[in-house]
Amino acid sequence: MPEKIKMSPEGQLVVPDCPIVPFIEGDGTGVDIWPASKMVFDAAASAHGRSIEWKEVLAGEKAFRETGEWLPAETVQAFRDHLVGIKGPLTTPIGGGIRSLNVALRQVLDLYVCLRPVKWFRGVPSPVRHPEKVDMVIFRENTEDVYAGLEVAEGTPEARKLIEYLHDQLGWNIRVDSGIGIKPVSETGSKRLIRAAIQYALDHNRKSVTLVHKGNIQKFTEGAFRAWGYEVVRDEFSDLAIGWDDCDGDPGKLLLVKDAIADITLQQVLTRPAEFDVIATLNLNGDYLSDALAAQVGGIGIAPGANINYMTGHGVFEATHGTAPKYAGQDKVNPGSVILSGALMFEHLGWADVASSIVHALERTIAEKIVTYDFARLTEGAHEVRCSEFAAAIVERL
Ligand code: NAP
Repeated sequence: MPEKIKMSPEGQLVVPDCPIVPFIEGDGTGVDIWPASKMVFDAAASAHGRSIEWKEVLAGEKAFRETGEWLPAETVQAFRDHLVGIKGPLTTPIGGGIRSLNVALRQVLDLYVCLRPVKWFRGVPSPVRHPEKVDMVIFRENTEDVYAGLEVAEGTPEARKLIEYLHDQLGWNIRVDSGIGIKPVSETGSKRLIRAAIQYALDHNRKSVTLVHKGNIQKFTEGAFRAWGYEVVRDEFSDLAIGWDDCDGDPGKLLLVKDAIADITLQQVLTRPAEFDVIATLNLNGDYLSDALAAQVGGIGIAPGANINYMTGHGVFEATHGTAPKYAGQDKVNPGSVILSGALMFEHLGWADVASSIVHALERTIAEKIVTYDFARLTEGAHEVRCSEFAAAIVERL
């Protein structure tokens, strides 16, 4: 019997053997990627004695065609009620009154963690010499920073008022022809993100958490993020983790929490990737870092992503690439991003066995050089297959 996933009073997800999971097919290549991914998910769940009742909900172009709305209230409600769901890529409506459907869903459900694991799979073409050394998990803060959308345009009465206010009250001299954006970074937002990253590192036997920030320049936002991070370690994890400042070089059996400036981090993830494990960072830094790292492992087309609120259990698992409209309906593109996002979703549900069989089967398929066009053009001796054939090859190897 299909049932809803629930949250226990102790804050644990209660997952039935046949959970109802809402999905958004996605625009553009979503029509190719979703059926391929679903084939893999159903086969992997069934191999472990479970199943999923998929519930389609609308968003993006399909929703606009059928309901006149880009993100119908029922869709948001379905994600709210069922706690966990998955989505393909969505077109960003231009001038539609909504900044981005992805951002809207994150804000409405307060999905404060953007989770991006970055790992190389054997056989994936990469631009670096040792992609196998990259195995990092990025925790990007998802609700604050310059992404809060608090901006006023140059020349508007709002901008003038703000510039005058800041001059009169704080003595700040801002050029009159400036646009202004506000960068809020709160103790609440920073600590819950860092707490989730540390807990993840402990649960997954990771060695370190690096707090990546630009605190040398932005002291009261990025610098405060760093300070609050070390406070979380001392106040909440003192028996399991230790901050760099409190450790004389050897953390022993404890999880090491250290920090690094954002610009240097972008160099060192390239030159010394083995020194990074779990990374906790603010919204904008996390945006740059996750794409830079995904490129390092050749994974732009297959990088998975998730947006999670660990306190309510809500999670939306999603493709990290866009809709690639020029390939829509051609059964051509790589479904790997949604497939690996699904594996992340199963891990979140506590179905680690289902998740790891998907990851291993995908890894074997790529290692045998059975790949879609994007990898085929970079791989000597590749056997190029369609989107659906790639999924079928994964199913054969489950
Ligand atoms: P895009 O759709 O990601 O496509 C850019 C290029 O990336 C494609 O031309 C293709 O490269 C490659 N690519 C994308 N998906 C692929 C896949 N599944 N397999 C293999 N290669 C893939 O970016 P865009 O053209 O800038 O954006 C198109 C629309 O998507 C926009 O409306 C944008 O707002 C939206 N978008 C949505 C999301 C999301 O929903 N998470 C994210 C980003 C963008 P080649 O042509 O070189 O093969």
